Parts: sequence; C-alpha cells; structure tokens
Amino acid sequence: MPQSCAAWGCTNHRTVENRSRGITFHKFPKNKELRRQWEVALRREGFSASESSVLCNEHFKPEDFDMTGQIVRIRDGAKPSIFSFPPHLQRPVATRKTEASRKAEESWSVDCSQIFQEIEPPLPNVV
Ligand SMILES: [Zn+2]
Repeated sequence: MPQSCAAWGCTNHRTVENRSRGITFHKFPKNKELRRQWEVALRREGFSASESSVLCNEHFKPEDFDMTGQIVRIRDGAKPSIFSFPPHLQRPVATRKTEASRKAEESWSVDCSQIFQEIEPPLPNVV
C-alpha cells in the first residue's frame, strides 16, 4: 500500500503518477519539538506521527521548500500551514509563537480563503 498524506481530507498517495505531477512527500521531522508542531498543525486529535508518516507538498508554502539540492526538502524549522479543514476544525489554535514567526504568519494570512483557492502548488524538479 502506498504511503498517503497524513493531512486532513488530503487523499494524495505516494505514487508514480503523483510524483510526475510534482507532488512530493515529506517525512515528519526527527526533532521532537518540531515534529510536535507539525502534529499540532495537522489538528488531528490523538494523531502522533510515526516513522512512516508523511505530508505532501500541498500543505507547505513555497518558501518552506529548500530546492537547492538534488531532492526537494522542507527547510529546517518550517511547518505545514495549508490545510482544508472540516468546518469544526476551522478555528484558531492557541499556540505559543515567537515574535518572528507570528509576524511572518500575519503577513501571510491576510485572507486565507482566498489564498486556499489561488495558491498553486510548486512544481519542483523531483529527481
Ligand atoms: Zn497532502
């Protein structure tokens, strides 16, 4: 069975077809704190990432990717931030943030609903 994206409502599987569409899959960080932040960002109750848990690139902002190497990586410290949550999960989650990350999010989340519709997933060169 192919690996599938752990995000809410996302049905992307790790298949050759998706790969050719430019969808990349990324494992959860090994760093415990960062991994926890990803789990919180998913908003899936009781979810804890396993060694094989992955998220697809549709949940990350273009600037979260490091495309300088041979393979597309998520930058150190980047977190998934683009999800289509069901209505009961669409509420702000109180998380402790640094001033820098809060400012970064403010400039990003001007109008989330608009961004969800207009954002184009990046099409990195997957090797
Ligand atoms: Zn996904």
